[in-house]
Amino acid sequence: MKRNTLKFLALAALAAHGFLPALVTAAEPVPVVASFSILGDLVQVVGGERVKLTTLAGPNADAHAFTPSPRDARAVLNARLLVINGLNFEPWAQKLVKSAGYKGVTVVAASGVPARPMQESSDSHGHHEADPHAWQNPDNVLLYVKNITAGLSKVDPAGAAAYQANAAAYAAELKMFDAWAKAQFASIPAARRKVITSHDAFGYFAAHYQISFLAPEGISTDTEPSARHVAELIRQMKREKIKAVFVENMSNPKLIAQLSRDAGAAVGGTLYSDALSGPEEAGSSYLKMMRHNVTQLVAGMRLN
Ligand SMILES: [Zn+2]
Repeated sequence: MKRNTLKFLALAALAAHGFLPALVTAAEPVPVVASFSILGDLVQVVGGERVKLTTLAGPNADAHAFTPSPRDARAVLNARLLVINGLNFEPWAQKLVKSAGYKGVTVVAASGVPARPMQESSDSHGHHEADPHAWQNPDNVLLYVKNITAGLSKVDPAGAAAYQANAAAYAAELKMFDAWAKAQFASIPAARRKVITSHDAFGYFAAHYQISFLAPEGISTDTEPSARHVAELIRQMKREKIKAVFVENMSNPKLIAQLSRDAGAAVGGTLYSDALSGPEEAGSSYLKMMRHNVTQLVAGMRLN
């Protein structure tokens, strides 16, 4: 072993034991917490090796109904940047920030997106809250990436150029995906672009790609659909011959199974709406999940 290597190892050992703080901080990645898996992917894309990411609601987890653990609170306390979706997607986030005593920077990724109101049927109280699932339109994700880039550059100015470059490369990929998706849907006649899925997560996607999504559950997964609403949906499926029925990866599949049985339609496959899949499955990044969803939807709508 060479002398320099030994010296390095000695320094590394000192650093590992907390002696040499100045030497360590110079190369230390920025601790960042993302509230859920899709944001985690975007933070990793922009941050690259300069960030050390912790994702709270992980793959296949329902972020609407997430319960942070004491470990999550510690991760938030130690973070320099917290990235949340906003639009009341994570009603638990504010409480977590408070209980953790977090004093760092918070980025609201959906800040500035043209928010869509919730659909009438999903709210019986006459509220006009915003639909939180804004990432389902890739145009909005361009804005998410911009907000994340600004947040990272604020807490780590030395990395600003790297963050900008990563964001620009990803923006080009988003635009390519969008053009491809539009071409895919253009092959389906407008009258047949109808889909059933479990909860109302595809409002932005539907508007952007001109597809009708019908969902028995509301905008959040914590509201049970009424029997009357389910019966209405079954009648509509029969009347309009809708065969494109999908489950979502983080949602209860039972209701969709009942719908497809009662309306005589086969369940098409899994759509990724509010969470990425695990690393071995088809939706392990935002772009992969979006490509998967488009492919599944087009195949399903061909049966309508
Ligand atoms: Zn949702």
